[in-house]
Amino acid sequence: MKKKLNPFSIAQAQLDDAAEKLGLEESMHELLRWPMHELKVTLPVKMDDGSTRIFHAFRIQYNTARGPAKGGIRWHPDETIDTVRALAAWMTWKTSVVDIPLGGGKGGIVCNPKELSEAEQQRLARAYVRAIARSLGVTKDIPAPDVYTTPQIMGWMMDEYETLMGEKHPGVITGKPIPLGGSEGRGDATARGGIYVTQETANTYGIDLKGQTMAIQGFGNAGQHAALLGEKILGLKLISASDSKGGVYNPDGLNAESLVEYKQKRGSLRGFPKAEHISNEQLLELEVKVLFPSALENVITEKNAPRLRCKILCELANGPTTPKADEILYNNGVIVLPDFLANAGGVTVSYLEQVQNTYNLYWEIEEIHWRLREKMTRAFRGVHEMCQNKKVNMRQAAYLVAVARVAEACKLRGWI
Ligand code: NAD
Repeated sequence: MKKKLNPFSIAQAQLDDAAEKLGLEESMHELLRWPMHELKVTLPVKMDDGSTRIFHAFRIQYNTARGPAKGGIRWHPDETIDTVRALAAWMTWKTSVVDIPLGGGKGGIVCNPKELSEAEQQRLARAYVRAIARSLGVTKDIPAPDVYTTPQIMGWMMDEYETLMGEKHPGVITGKPIPLGGSEGRGDATARGGIYVTQETANTYGIDLKGQTMAIQGFGNAGQHAALLGEKILGLKLISASDSKGGVYNPDGLNAESLVEYKQKRGSLRGFPKAEHISNEQLLELEVKVLFPSALENVITEKNAPRLRCKILCELANGPTTPKADEILYNNGVIVLPDFLANAGGVTVSYLEQVQNTYNLYWEIEEIHWRLREKMTRAFRGVHEMCQNKKVNMRQAAYLVAVARVAEACKLRGWI
């Protein structure tokens, strides 16, 4: 049987590499290898049929040297303490690389929400908040949605927290519905951030994107917005897109808006007019200027990396490229925009949501967009500079920038 990779071991190995390159002292390295605070809670929840089910759940604050912890809550049947630890570590590096004054955290409930009624989901959300409320708060830890959690679930969680506290705290959680203090621009923030970083990359390397081609693997939230904004902001032509059932391809171009409408109506890309069928594997190997992996992890490996023909690989998904593939792509001159930089737009707008909640003053969409652009552009420049100075690839450079900032904050606090 194939042994499943432990994501936390991978996260620790990535940190080890950065620590060595940065020459971190041993105690600092050891501190950054582990979550600083972990909560494991057991939740009894009443089911609709009158029975009680027990759920296991976690909340981890990985490192809070740069500010309160920030990170989503996943509801997934395969959730483990180690997936949550890894994701919390990655959130620490993500908030650091875009330089927002937050640390990294993550939460998870082991459950399959597809098997729960709406009322059961609401009771589970409230039970979770009751169990972890003491470690939540705008000055401690601010959750957000993640896999299988929605703005509605964030709304219930905020309400439970406020009920416990007896006062309003909209900033305790982000990704809320707009009428409850959610931010304009959160919906497409992840893709938009990736598009801004791609634009900056093209400017830096003198690549003209107008009229050039793009392909998108994974046509969900991130992928659909990347198609629309890639067309609108970068002038790219979409020639292929895919979902879990396969993809569509037309070298003359697919209209992004029609494709999004088609997917939303039919739930699949299959049968889209004037397009050929293409497999997910073939899509990755198309000759395009920009490739957006926007679905799953580990889809670009040492096997297919030599055959990739894109110029820019913008990782909207988390972990789509294996470390060995990274090396191959670097040697072949593909510019890889690493996940925790390329998809940091989501957490950046979450941070802006929290700022608006704190001031009780809400911005127009234009203000969100320019603030997001400013953060993403600055982050790209910092990583690119590190890349040039240290002669490392973009992912290693992003780690060096992020880890060095967290280490500096730990040092300034006198922790080490
Ligand atoms: P989503 O569920 O909305 O979309 C995922 C899409 O991938 C779906 O269209 C699905 O059909 C497709 N898919 C599933 N299996 C596939 C396969 N084998 N081949 C091709 N396509 C497949 O999810 P999302 O929110 O768009 O997230 C996508 C990726 O982006 C994930 O890795 C996620 O962690 C990452 N991400 C998302 C956000 C965000 O704000 N949405 C933020 C940061 C990172």
